[in-house]
Amino acid sequence: MNIETIVAQAGIGADSEKGSISVPIYHSATFRHIALGVSTGYDYSRTSNPTRKVLEDLAAELEGGCGGYAFASGMAAVTAVLMIFSKGDHLIVSDDLYGGTYRVLDKIFCRYGITASYVDTSNVEEVIAAIQPEVTKAIFIESPTNPLMKITNIREVASVAKSRGILTIVDNTFMTPYLQQPIKLGADIVVHSATKYLGGHNDVLGGIVVGATQELCEKIKFIQNSTGGVLGPQDSWLMIRGIKTLAVRMDRQQDNAFKIAKWLKERPEVKEVYYPGLPGHPGHNIISEQAKGYGAMISFKVKRKEFIERIINRVRIISFAESLGGVESLITYPAKQTHGDIPEEVRNRIGVTDDLLRLSVGIENADDLLKDLEQAMEGGRA
Ligand SMILES: *Cc1c(COP(=O)(O)O)cnc(C)c1O
Repeated sequence: MNIETIVAQAGIGADSEKGSISVPIYHSATFRHIALGVSTGYDYSRTSNPTRKVLEDLAAELEGGCGGYAFASGMAAVTAVLMIFSKGDHLIVSDDLYGGTYRVLDKIFCRYGITASYVDTSNVEEVIAAIQPEVTKAIFIESPTNPLMKITNIREVASVAKSRGILTIVDNTFMTPYLQQPIKLGADIVVHSATKYLGGHNDVLGGIVVGATQELCEKIKFIQNSTGGVLGPQDSWLMIRGIKTLAVRMDRQQDNAFKIAKWLKERPEVKEVYYPGLPGHPGHNIISEQAKGYGAMISFKVKRKEFIERIINRVRIISFAESLGGVESLITYPAKQTHGDIPEEVRNRIGVTDDLLRLSVGIENADDLLKDLEQAMEGGRA
């Protein structure tokens, strides 16, 4: 079955007794046992819940993994993945990545003796150079990165990792399994902030982990049940409902993003546009080869810092807000919002500078979005 069909049909058949098309929401913390040693397969909702299970199985199917696990947020999912590691383990991490992932590594996991090196994973030589034999246990990648849209060759990095017994973990939030399936490229674990494209409506937080092998799935399941950061049944239902339209949303958002990226490139106020769908983007060929599309995230730098405030304060349709991936277009100022926890000198080194804006392009009419950006930039000519 093709992915468009899988997502649209999500959850059908989950209720074999009554045949409801929409997945029932099992708002139950615990489950009654008929007799000693007889279980419906559900005992307690932290361990497993029927509504969450539909989402988890769907995630595993979409990513082509062995098992899926749903968490209360993307950071709960990232945290669960990092709990696989132990004191003394070392990770190699994309240097330009979601600020919260950096923060949890830098402020929390380092206290438990898990260290990380931040490298430009789009350069496989840098990855190889950072490997500490016996100590490095995983490479954690975002591709495209957030917010600079750098592309890592997932197949190449995963093969380097595999040959040394190192795990490859991919945060696939920006692409979704509709556009990119890291496990098929050799990754061992895929993690998502399902809050973004999977949910798709800026109305629910969630995280997903998918493991490629039975062994990894058992580890993740054990961590999920032991630490308890699970997604509730109501939110699991919202997530399933959102995923049903993933394919059409992504297609439309990507079309809109293409139009906006091309338009931005011609604007006199704009210094640089970062969108991997543009042929001039340094990772364009790699993403074309490893993914089915380019997503709908665009970052751009303006020529003068004053333009930042002007654009942010004057957009009317596009909302100035953190987050991404929903049907509504959002504009974000990474230096102050998503990446505010990264020290300034680190931000400047990796290019998350004060003149950078990030757009999450929604499903609105592209001309309306362009008009909105144009009126916001007006008067801000270079
Ligand atoms: C938002 C985001 C996260 C964190 O997810 P939450 O749902 O906000 O906890 C992790 N990775 C990426 C790439 C994100 O965009």
